[in-house]
Amino acid sequence: MALHDFPPGWDEARVRRLIQHYECMAEDQLLAEDEAKRKQWRSQYPGYCSFCRKSHKDAGPLVEGPDFVYICYPCILLCKNIVEVERKRLGIETPS
Ligand SMILES: [Zn+2]
Repeated sequence: MALHDFPPGWDEARVRRLIQHYECMAEDQLLAEDEAKRKQWRSQYPGYCSFCRKSHKDAGPLVEGPDFVYICYPCILLCKNIVEVERKRLGIETPS
């Protein structure tokens, strides 16, 4: 499709420059939004396990879940045991 019928003072090059300008702006805004998310993540990172409330210094590396939820390795093991016992009780085969 050819671009034509430009208003006075406008041509295809000017339209393209304008489009480019807005595309760049959108990218800047996206980057700003991304940075805002990172800042929010940093400010909301609790540094402790959401389950046992132990600090990552005591509990080791934490696995991140959605919405700023974290779990430590001892809690993962505990959850695994709970799930396995519950699966046995319900007669569901545990995947090996
Ligand atoms: Zn924990």
